[in-house]
Amino acid sequence: EQLANQIAAGEVVERPSSVVKELVENAVDAGSTTIDIAIEEGGLSLVRVTDNGSGIEPDDIEKAFFRHATSKLASSKDLFRIASLGFRGEALPSIAAVAKVELISSPEATGLGKRLVIEGGSVKKLEDANAPQGTDIAVRDLFFNTPARLKYMKSIQTEIGHIADYANRLALAHPGIAFTLKHNGNTLLRTTGTGDILQAFAAIYGTTTAKSMLIVEGEHPDYDLRGYISRPELTRANRNGITIVVNGRYIKSYIINQAILQAYHTLLPINRFPMVVLDLKMHPSLLDVNVHPSKMEVRFSKEPELRQFIEETLGKALGRERH
Ligand code: ADP
Ligand code: MG
Repeated sequence: EQLANQIAAGEVVERPSSVVKELVENAVDAGSTTIDIAIEEGGLSLVRVTDNGSGIEPDDIEKAFFRHATSKLASSKDLFRIASLGFRGEALPSIAAVAKVELISSPEATGLGKRLVIEGGSVKKLEDANAPQGTDIAVRDLFFNTPARLKYMKSIQTEIGHIADYANRLALAHPGIAFTLKHNGNTLLRTTGTGDILQAFAAIYGTTTAKSMLIVEGEHPDYDLRGYISRPELTRANRNGITIVVNGRYIKSYIINQAILQAYHTLLPINRFPMVVLDLKMHPSLLDVNVHPSKMEVRFSKEPELRQFIEETLGKALGRERH
């Protein structure tokens, strides 16, 4: 069991940003409206995520660290209509296998909750604790018991870059949640959680850039697309300004990238890329998110239709601009 967790940890917990990803996704799944992320030393010494979500029932706290003890899938049929970000029940046990974890959670505003300390997979402490509703989880000394992996970590600055990038994407994917990200006490991101994508965008890329964006709106029997794209004049040297959100999940998609670039084709100089935030909604059955443990890659069941719809919708947004 401990070995299985360490092996799974190799897949799920590649670096500090993977810990941030898994903890923040849990906070999102718990219905939180505020999520605070605090990291120290690029996340290697601390990743702490505090949310005001549903919390965990005191009797379930230990269970959350058992493998495949997800509370999010009732049957295998659910695998085909996954609405939550997590569903594998692998993250917490994997993280606890390679770090020192302290979790305090309460499901109620009464303030009665539990505190669990688990290090390298073994439970050190489980006790009653006072806590506001929600969950506060601190992951310290990542890879303390897997020195080989620790050795592969890049500079603190590189790790912060990955974490900030991920937090930014999540903030765009969930504009209704107020996010903060702090590194060694310095605020790197603060969104207000108004539900407006453009406000989240402005918090990340600045108000001037946000003001110059074009609105994207498109409907189709299978899809609903909203978002913002940059005017052809505003270009970047890489694709990092492209954020694709499908059913509330930040994903990477080759075919959607292709559709975006196709919509801009002839409008952009070679090797320049637009800034794009797309919020795509579709029936969960048209989407397979169970492709890779990181859940960042997905498979669409009607790729050509989707590609065409996106290209046309973006083309309209750009065309409105030209006329
Ligand atoms: P998964 O997200 O795939 O279900 P995890 O290992 O990430 O698996 O989490 C295990 C379980 O712990 C979740 O299914 C959920 O019930 C509970 N949990 C974890 N984090 C939180 C949180 N921040 N708020 C409420 N419940 C949580
Ligand atoms: Mg999870």
